[in-house]
Amino acid sequence: MTKMIIDGKPVAAQDGRTLDVLSPVDGAVFTTLPRAQAADVDRAVAAARGALNGAWGRMTALERGRLLIKLGESVLAHHEELSQIESRDTGKPLSTARADITVLARYFEFYGSGADKVHGQTIPFQQDYSVQVIREPLGVTAHIIPWNYPAQMFGRSVAPALAMGNAAVAKPAEDACLSIVRVAELALEVGFPAGALNVVTGLGEEAGAALSRHPGINFISFTGSNEVGVLIQQAAALNAVKCVLELGGKSAHIVFDDARTELAIPAIVKGIVHNAGQTCTAGSRLLVQKGIYPQFMEALAREFSKVRAGTPEMDLTCGPVVNRSQFERVNRYIAKGLAEGMKVVAEGSIADGVPENGFFVKPTLFSAARHDSDLFQQEIFGPVLVSMPFEDEAQAIQLANDTAYGLLGAVWTENGGRQQRVARAIQVGQVYINGFGAGGGIELPFGGVKRSGHGREKGFIALEEMSTTKTIIQYYGA
Ligand code: ADP
Repeated sequence: MTKMIIDGKPVAAQDGRTLDVLSPVDGAVFTTLPRAQAADVDRAVAAARGALNGAWGRMTALERGRLLIKLGESVLAHHEELSQIESRDTGKPLSTARADITVLARYFEFYGSGADKVHGQTIPFQQDYSVQVIREPLGVTAHIIPWNYPAQMFGRSVAPALAMGNAAVAKPAEDACLSIVRVAELALEVGFPAGALNVVTGLGEEAGAALSRHPGINFISFTGSNEVGVLIQQAAALNAVKCVLELGGKSAHIVFDDARTELAIPAIVKGIVHNAGQTCTAGSRLLVQKGIYPQFMEALAREFSKVRAGTPEMDLTCGPVVNRSQFERVNRYIAKGLAEGMKVVAEGSIADGVPENGFFVKPTLFSAARHDSDLFQQEIFGPVLVSMPFEDEAQAIQLANDTAYGLLGAVWTENGGRQQRVARAIQVGQVYINGFGAGGGIELPFGGVKRSGHGREKGFIALEEMSTTKTIIQYYGA
């Protein structure tokens, strides 16, 4: 049985309850996890507070940074082991899991080396006054992590928090938390003081809800569904704590008639089938200028039909989706699209020999979507791409913005003025011009607008999000 990490020790839930962990590849149980309740969360929050009041809180920024860098090195030293754990837990192809673990190490390296580089200010004020603005940690930070990229999301959330001197309690998703528990063990091995980084496993509505409502926390970082994001924001309001929310997207590619199709097509395919479409930043809507729509879709369909889903060991384009409910949800969207008269123009395939009970979904490309259909509006979180033609720049912008979400966008054109106009007009947190997806892109500020959430992660801005300022005003006159 896997244990969780509280106050520097591997522990079971206090009441001994467990959860089964199922393999997405064949649906079989392969280990169990502690099913933490409020009492376990209390222990973890108390341990984090203890660390802040103890050895962890006394460390200098340089010392914290060195520990984070050491953790990054340890992740690299255990790269293959962590990749195997990640791919077993999520079903993702081994090479995808390996890339994810490399990104995880980068988060610790990047924020480790940033720990002593966030400096304060002095402000000229009235005669005989000295004013300093110093940066302070927020305190105990809660991190509720999704299952799609467990290792990466854990690094993205906890590394900047730890770098700024906060203590962390992470609650990974019930569907995928094994790599996170292992990294918390490695953190202890490299010398993190007990309680600085705790991992509580369990169900969202139990452990996650208890953590997000806990009066002992000072900050919540959450990545996940819109529905749960609303609950998290309500919980944050109860204790008047800040939260950073990343709630997914319905990101659009806009392809103009002068686009370099040889660049665009592979990026569009990868942008929706990577990780079986279970990516917040998936490019799940495709808008193509009318004049090139038929030939573009034909070329795209040729590429799309080459996509294959298989087991992690087969290491194909994508694996299964993470669990039965996700499998049913994606298939429901596909069936709905068909029932509404949308046309499938290409399908990928599922490799021969995958287990019958695995959660494999056929990657599907739809054409002629209606802008008010669920396929065009809802985040499916599967390898399903919907497309539609547009007339001109104004209509492209209008369609791209015609969704509740606002996470990413991409514009494909050789016209420089148009690149800037469209990039500025689409309501999202990140825009690509002639490219898509940054494969981690940990240096680049990231986050959404509209229903995609608020607050920023990645880059230096995360160090600011995960700390606060104190202004010290001193009179030194005679
Ligand atoms: P998805 O719908 O994609 O599975 P969720 O938003 O349900 O994503 O899950 C993201 C994370 O939020 C997971 O760690 C999950 O356990 C947690 N979670 C789910 N429900 C709650 C809740 N009511 N309160 C706090 N955390 C929750």
